[in-house]
Amino acid sequence: MTVVTASVTTHAVRRTRRRLTSLLVGTALATSTLAVTTLTGGATAAAPAPRAASTAAAAAQGAPKPCPTQTAHPWCDRSLSPDQRAQKFLRAMTVDEEITLVGGDSFGAAPHTGATYALPRLGLRPVYFSDGPVGPRQGEATAMPIPMALAATWDARLARTHGREIADEAKAKGNDVVFAPTVNLMRTPQGGRTYEAYGEDTFLTGRTAIGWIRGAQSTGVIANVKHYLANNQEGQNGVPPLSSGNGGRQVVDVQATERTLREVYLPQFEAAVKQAHVGTIMCAYNRINGDYACENHHTLQEILEKQWGFKGIVLADYGASKDTVGNLNNGLDFIPNQGQADQSYRPELIQAALASGQVTRATLDGHVLRILRTLFAYGVFDRRGYVNDDGQIAVRAHQRTARRTESRAITLLKNQGVLPLKKGVRKIAVIGPYADRFITGGGSGTVTARRVVTALEGIRTRAGKRVKVTYADGSDQAAAAALAKAADVAVLVVGDVQTEGQDKDCLGLNCPSDTANSEAVLVLQGSSCAQESCPLNGTDQDGLISAVAAVQKKTVVVLETGGPVLTPWRKDVAAVVEAWYPGQEGGTAIARMLFGDTDPGGRLPVTFPRTADQPQTAGDPRRYPGVAETVEYSEGILAGYKWYDAQHFTPAWAFGAGKSYTKFRYGALHVHAARGANRVATATMTVRNVGRRAGVAVPQLYLSKPSTAALEQAPRQLAGFTSVRLRRDQAARITFPLNNRSFATWAGTGAHAGWKVLPGCYRLAAGRSSRALPSHAVIGRGAGCGSADLRLGRRGSLVDPLPAAARAVLLR
Ligand code: BGC
Repeated sequence: MTVVTASVTTHAVRRTRRRLTSLLVGTALATSTLAVTTLTGGATAAAPAPRAASTAAAAAQGAPKPCPTQTAHPWCDRSLSPDQRAQKFLRAMTVDEEITLVGGDSFGAAPHTGATYALPRLGLRPVYFSDGPVGPRQGEATAMPIPMALAATWDARLARTHGREIADEAKAKGNDVVFAPTVNLMRTPQGGRTYEAYGEDTFLTGRTAIGWIRGAQSTGVIANVKHYLANNQEGQNGVPPLSSGNGGRQVVDVQATERTLREVYLPQFEAAVKQAHVGTIMCAYNRINGDYACENHHTLQEILEKQWGFKGIVLADYGASKDTVGNLNNGLDFIPNQGQADQSYRPELIQAALASGQVTRATLDGHVLRILRTLFAYGVFDRRGYVNDDGQIAVRAHQRTARRTESRAITLLKNQGVLPLKKGVRKIAVIGPYADRFITGGGSGTVTARRVVTALEGIRTRAGKRVKVTYADGSDQAAAAALAKAADVAVLVVGDVQTEGQDKDCLGLNCPSDTANSEAVLVLQGSSCAQESCPLNGTDQDGLISAVAAVQKKTVVVLETGGPVLTPWRKDVAAVVEAWYPGQEGGTAIARMLFGDTDPGGRLPVTFPRTADQPQTAGDPRRYPGVAETVEYSEGILAGYKWYDAQHFTPAWAFGAGKSYTKFRYGALHVHAARGANRVATATMTVRNVGRRAGVAVPQLYLSKPSTAALEQAPRQLAGFTSVRLRRDQAARITFPLNNRSFATWAGTGAHAGWKVLPGCYRLAAGRSSRALPSHAVIGRGAGCGSADLRLGRRGSLVDPLPAAARAVLLR
């Protein structure tokens, strides 16, 4: 692998640091790794305010032992509920200690991403936090395939393993909380954090998040679902600083109707709270309908606390708190980065707010109780702190998971007979700037990989001695084309660069922002390059593909991107493979797929547009990136593929699409009434592998609600899915459970607004992608659906947002 480190000039480093500072204002990355102290709005970080219960002072007084080693404290009595224990602990606290607990010890957190202050007088040790959704951002870690790749597996079991192993590493590095998963939907494919989340669909994102959180929390680490709510863009051209005119995440005000929020942007958070019992939630930078996310009474207190019953900790993103009184009075419990990017829970400001009566003691108590209750409920009080020792990590097992997940994530978009590579292939030309390089997303979701297998290394290893593998990085198009021409097949590995803090300027592979960001991202990943030698700088990737395809019919393009890109050359090449940012074992998984050892198991969790003007955010600056600090979600519920379907657009590749090396036959769809918790009906079908080899089927169920002029519905929405490996001629019976919320619409206004199952015909369609749905059935709800295969009343619980994913039972 080529990692250009030696040629870094002082100038380049300085320039990159300046750029990073502006990209990542407010992140722990900027504040700790790069020791940047500039704050949003240009303020300078104050020195840490003296805290009432400083660790050292109390330790010197001879602090009592924590709960695991004694029972003298009344709150150590495990027969009491977490609420009772929290109440007892609160009663023992001084007001200064309460104030100490709501702001993090960000100056003492390193090497962690965040920490609470300890209260040694009361036997409470510090609690440690780490990013993030791809792996711990603390020293070296297993770089897993990105969350977008995980979503492409359409496999909730793999999501569970991904979550479990990342949390397990976070735990082995001494952390109690992991800042993941990110469940913000991809609203614009230009979004800088597209790679960090699970795509454009609410149901797929929600189910993946449930699996991830359950896996993570099974290790004894608390998960943190983020960024609540509608942090769906980072902003454009934000250098320096992110200004109001270009939709910067720190300032932007998302204008969305209640229905849009309830149906599209909230359900995955709701599922994380109600169905996965996530312990903490991170409020976002942006505003929602006028109020900042960390002081938004409607989203934090009415929806999250009252309607969903969330009893965990609401904590602020780094730099997302704005106003002491607003934050305290509207539901923000804890600020991890207090004193650095955040100033709002400075002790003197809280004291002043209490003294002036703007905030009551009961409100402060409430926040402290929520923090304590969560620590009791998730066992933090009853165990010793986790030890920070990488030696505890099951490195090999995690490597295997990274490889296995990527194998299931790789999505074959086009294949004209060239894949899997035939036995007769003797010479492979591997070409492109990404072939010999590790790429993952930038920002707080980045990971310093413990080891890396690039695509080139993977292909060389798998090819063995009898196949010659040549390589060109593609900077010289003529040389690359000559190499391709002299080979039996050309494998081009190209990609994009995504990073927190800045959206991409455009969707093509030659996007200028990718070039600019690549420097910053590579520095963050522990390698770097000077402007002149950055592999992405100046590489005309689209031109390279065309030049190679012009001389080599058997050209395979492997994309390593964080989300959708434009593919204007797709008709000229024989195969297109989306490998995402494939994680540290990606090269092995890619090679095994190319040679046919594994079947490409991935299906798209996002739509690939045909042209830049197709996405829902294109063509209207009010929608994206926003005008005068305001972004209008005027597309409403028509997000992602629902937009394409409603506009009758033909994308390059549809949501849910992806090919296997084998063929599947989808049988008829049958519907049945079902009783039991969280289901009202089931739809069943049989899928059979009718091809010549084993492969992975991903059966998908979509539901169309009755649309009226007054209440427009999406043409169809995902309502069930699973992923199942079938041997040749093997079949599986797929059962898709449906609950009342599968059918429900957020309707009505004011006090009458709520989830309703409207009367009419609900059409179900199942198949291999959102645009290939051969099997149909109709369920009538209430009166007025004469043609229904099944009629049901309109009653049933509307509490649980998401039904279970589908179940596959192998038939023989
Ligand atoms: C990001 C969060 C992250 C935090 C701490 C912020 O900039 O938005 O996702 O957890 O930094 O690194």
